[in-house]
Amino acid sequence: MDIFCKIINKEIPAEIVYEDEHVLAFKDINPVAPIHILIIPKSHMENLNDIPEEGDHQYILNAAKIIAKQLNVESGYRIVINCGESAGQTVFHLHAHLLAGRELSWPPG
Ligand SMILES: [Zn+2]
Repeated sequence: MDIFCKIINKEIPAEIVYEDEHVLAFKDINPVAPIHILIIPKSHMENLNDIPEEGDHQYILNAAKIIAKQLNVESGYRIVINCGESAGQTVFHLHAHLLAGRELSWPPG
């Protein structure tokens, strides 16, 4: 079982900032920005290539909007989803990074 499924099952602690019936969001333990939140669907799927047409993943962006408001970063934040090892995905449970709190350059690396 991957580490995010263990967090969902409360087998591993995390600093949870948002939760509803579909998604869980918590602070990244290795933040790359002052605000770095991971938003994950509660049902396991490896990455974007695996998402069904309907399901928990649909709620990720909605959660991002709510969290951005909650953390007062609505004026500037970025959502990143790395899909596959060569794109920097290291945990193979679909997750979106919400980054904020500093200037974010474009294009991303
Ligand atoms: Zn998982």
